[in-house]
Amino acid sequence: MSRKQAFQFLDLPRTMPQRIPVELRTSGDWGELYGKFGKEDAQYQAGRCLDCGNPYCSWKCPVHNAIPQWLQLVQENRIHEAATLCHSTNPLPEVCGRVCPQDRLCEGSCTLEEFGAVTIGAVEKYIVDTALATGWRPDLAAVENTGKRVAVIGAGPAGLACADRLAHAGVQAVVYDRYEQIGGLLQFGIPSFKLDKSVISRRRNVLEGMGVQFRLGVEIGRDITLDTLLADYDAVFVGTGAYRYTDGGLPGQDLKNVLPALPFLVQNSRIVGGSDAHGRPIAGWEDTLALPNLEGKRVVVLGGGDTGMDCVRSAVRLGAARVTCAYRRDEASMPGSAREVANAREEGVRFLFNRQPLSIEAGADDEAIGVTVVETHLGEPDAQGRRNAVPIEGSESLLEADVVIIAFGFSPTAPEWLTAQGVEAASNGRILAGGNGRLPFQTAHPKLFAGGDAVRGADLVVTAVAEGRDAAASIVALVSA
Ligand code: FAD
Ligand code: SF4
Repeated sequence: MSRKQAFQFLDLPRTMPQRIPVELRTSGDWGELYGKFGKEDAQYQAGRCLDCGNPYCSWKCPVHNAIPQWLQLVQENRIHEAATLCHSTNPLPEVCGRVCPQDRLCEGSCTLEEFGAVTIGAVEKYIVDTALATGWRPDLAAVENTGKRVAVIGAGPAGLACADRLAHAGVQAVVYDRYEQIGGLLQFGIPSFKLDKSVISRRRNVLEGMGVQFRLGVEIGRDITLDTLLADYDAVFVGTGAYRYTDGGLPGQDLKNVLPALPFLVQNSRIVGGSDAHGRPIAGWEDTLALPNLEGKRVVVLGGGDTGMDCVRSAVRLGAARVTCAYRRDEASMPGSAREVANAREEGVRFLFNRQPLSIEAGADDEAIGVTVVETHLGEPDAQGRRNAVPIEGSESLLEADVVIIAFGFSPTAPEWLTAQGVEAASNGRILAGGNGRLPFQTAHPKLFAGGDAVRGADLVVTAVAEGRDAAASIVALVSA
């Protein structure tokens, strides 16, 4: 099928690639949940695009992908051209195709909504996986070396996107990360059932092929000073992410078998991925490397965001006997992707909505035995327009648990080695960049740029990619002035 049939969406339903059967997922399969489209499926799904002329999908996509155009190229089987177009806006398209909450972004604004949105994310993944497997690589033949060098701190999506764009501009990017592998939360946060780790090592090969250099296992401020980087490089990009755990102040949160979400997911990713289990721990959580065995245990996860969903679904794969997610608002108010909630439910996770945790209870040896929760109803909207959860007096009950995982979210902290250089930070720890007559993403120190979660607060892969990409444009403007 090389040409789209008019109104193809009426005859062909929206489909996603096949998923791993639920029996395998619940018996410990960590493989990527969604498989891949074959050529025909991708062409059919791409052909469902109406070409409506008003591509809300592109506008809602934080990197403004040229979606209708690459869908057309897929129908014509011009996959290498589609890959080139994908990369023109997005340095990590195969990652975003897998992990973006498409239901809130591109697909959520597809004109076809009531007929089922075009499966944009899965087609994006198909394009780039197919192109890379058939030898496509970014073409840097026309790029002239500027002789400029830029240090990138943090090999998360913000840092990788920045390095990619610097390479495209003939600037040598050297990426430093305290961890032993690249990817940041792509590698050590997002579980492999959402993003197979081979995708990240493949991207590392692509970036190294473009001349990007990595210095891994190196922590800035500890192993190398920022002064050294400022002296050795023409500019520095800071993409250090958001790792400060939101402290709910719950009585009992320090009991044994109570785990903060991120160290749990990071350490689990290291074990599942066969990475060095004794790798560098999360700053501030050095004592949490020994994970409790969840097999046969009752696990309660507090929090209803995407991180909470990753925790419940990891607990299922680790053999927990029963996994419960307690969330203080109703289902419609959940902040994460509805698709992830549906997947968790299918894997047997029990959801208790309108339950606010009050305290974690202790048994013998200071081990958690459960969470006291109170039922809630939704009251007035808060400052962000979200309705507050109001406790219902007298509705307290105990949710029994052997292990409690707290997933209340994260925020950044501007490190002292950065603020000592005059870089400003907001009271919530976000690094302040741009504005005040500066270049976009430039901090108060002219040679220092910042982007991603460290600047926005905990957000999404695609927004970190957008900021790393755009910060690189500012850096190129500075170093080539
Ligand atoms: P990070 O990915 O955090 O990378 C920062 C890097 O900086 C890290 O590698 C860190 O080691 C390094 N670093 C920090 N300090 C130093 C230092 N001093 N020296 C050297 N290196 C340093 N988003 C989605 O879009 N979809 C999802 O499904 C999704 N799932 C998520 C699941 C979890 C559990 C979490 C926690 C987040 C999830 N997110 C998801 C959010 C997304 O992962 C982040 O928004 C994104 O990774 C931010 O990118 P970043 O580059 O700013 O930071
Ligand atoms: Fe959709 Fe994300 Fe791809 Fe943009 S980058 S088209 S939001 S999947």
